[in-house]
Amino acid sequence: MKYFSTRGGDNPLTFEEAVLTGLAPNGGLYIPERIPSLPESWQEEWKSYSFVDLSVAILSLYVSPDEISTDELRTLVNRSYSTFRHPDVTPVTKLNDKKFVLELFHGPTFAFKDVALQLLGNLFEFFLARRNARKLPGERPESLTVVGATSGDTGSAAIYGLRGKKNVSIFILHPKGRVSPVQEAQMTTVTDPNVHNIAVRGTFDECQDIVKTLFANKPFNEKYHLGAVNSINWARILAQTVYYFVAYFHVSRQVLKTDSPELQFVVPTGNFGDVLAGYYAKSMGLPMGKLVIATNSNDILSRFWRSGRYEKVDSSPRATVLPEDASDLKKVHGEVQATLSPAMDILVSSNFERLLWYLAYESSNTGPDNVRLSSAGATVDGWMRNMKTDGRVEVPVEVLELARRDFMAERVSDDQTLETIKQYFTRSPSYIADPHTAVGLSAARIVSATNTSSIVQVVLSTAHPAKFSEAVTKALLTSQGFNFERDVLPQEFRGLLEKERRVIEVNEPSEEMVKEVIESKVGSADIEVRNI
Ligand SMILES: *Cc1c(COP(=O)(O)O)cnc(C)c1O
Repeated sequence: MKYFSTRGGDNPLTFEEAVLTGLAPNGGLYIPERIPSLPESWQEEWKSYSFVDLSVAILSLYVSPDEISTDELRTLVNRSYSTFRHPDVTPVTKLNDKKFVLELFHGPTFAFKDVALQLLGNLFEFFLARRNARKLPGERPESLTVVGATSGDTGSAAIYGLRGKKNVSIFILHPKGRVSPVQEAQMTTVTDPNVHNIAVRGTFDECQDIVKTLFANKPFNEKYHLGAVNSINWARILAQTVYYFVAYFHVSRQVLKTDSPELQFVVPTGNFGDVLAGYYAKSMGLPMGKLVIATNSNDILSRFWRSGRYEKVDSSPRATVLPEDASDLKKVHGEVQATLSPAMDILVSSNFERLLWYLAYESSNTGPDNVRLSSAGATVDGWMRNMKTDGRVEVPVEVLELARRDFMAERVSDDQTLETIKQYFTRSPSYIADPHTAVGLSAARIVSATNTSSIVQVVLSTAHPAKFSEAVTKALLTSQGFNFERDVLPQEFRGLLEKERRVIEVNEPSEEMVKEVIESKVGSADIEVRNI
């Protein structure tokens, strides 16, 4: 299986190259040359598979065995998910006959990004070790320097994914004093020698700008082999397809036998990575209804499904004439709003470009395939250029119709989020949702009003409630019998704030100063110039 860029180009890459490169040089994202369909007997064969078995089976469809053998893949997958606390890795909890929760937060940092980043770290290590084993005696080993900025959640998942990995160093910038105490502690208490937390006196945007400048600095980038772990990496999407199958088999065992219901996945969405994995599962042939995209008030996606316009600034008459509140006013100016579900606070969704490619390809359904392939790349390239220059693009109506065939979208406010946390706590059996999961549960309730009786919902739960204590406490403050320490706080978080920390402080948001830190920590003796 080869991979090519969503913005065209005729240099397909191997899986290894796509994973190590991350973003394509023309700005596009890598996608597989075709979406494989499931083996004929998958339902029979896979139904008793564990998470690891399913992961090996699915990944094998996207990675040629001559790139990674099945045995090697199994070793990598096994190692990646041995860090999860639950034997099922991503267990499914039943809320009622029509509603299940797929819990993705049982990894080391208690949030869904662990599912992908635990695997990504092992893939990096595997590829580098293999390249280095092929070197002649005396040749310098290859290494990777991962640099990223975080406002909290991604940073800790990336650090836990890469800690202790050979030939990999990781530098994570966070705005000093502006991430939650738990998130800061999760990152800075990892004391492996290859992990470097940089606390920058500045904002998250300033941290992000420093990282962007470093990546754009060609000599520096080439010297240190900068790598990114952000959500556009293909391996992250691939890793996430697996739990859709896990949920399918789990719910099938419980209900599908009786009256052949249809599964409806509801996915709290920010950068469109989690729900895109569901789209791949659906396109491979996993039976399900439309995927439900749940956004917070950073709702570029739900606006797209309403209007066919993908735009940073809401240009609908409702928004421009009469902003509902101060936060809507902010959106008129094209700014990200701070919500109670911060991991979904985005202005644009980077992985949406991958879906746009499939929509462009499908809507040009005439002519030979190679022409359709390159015209889809050109179409996406044009759309993304519009996005860059005007902050908006409007797709043709047939493209919107295709998007509506596989997805629907709902926007959920902070008030609805709090209300939902409270409702699920008070019901019996009680369930404590984190605010991101609560966005999903709220959207599930909204769409269920028009669901037929055969639909069973699976809401993806993306974080443990202890990670977002502020929102959970706010929602349950007045609820009888709620006790955060007793009901929410996991054993692993106790004493976390007092643990030994390692962090490098940088006193101003300066690219030069961050560069110096990286240079001083990555011994230049280990460095050799290389392009991947
Ligand atoms: C990243 C994240 C999301 C959003 O996932 P996307 O793949 O960006 O759509 C939702 N919830 C939590 C807790 C996250 O960390």
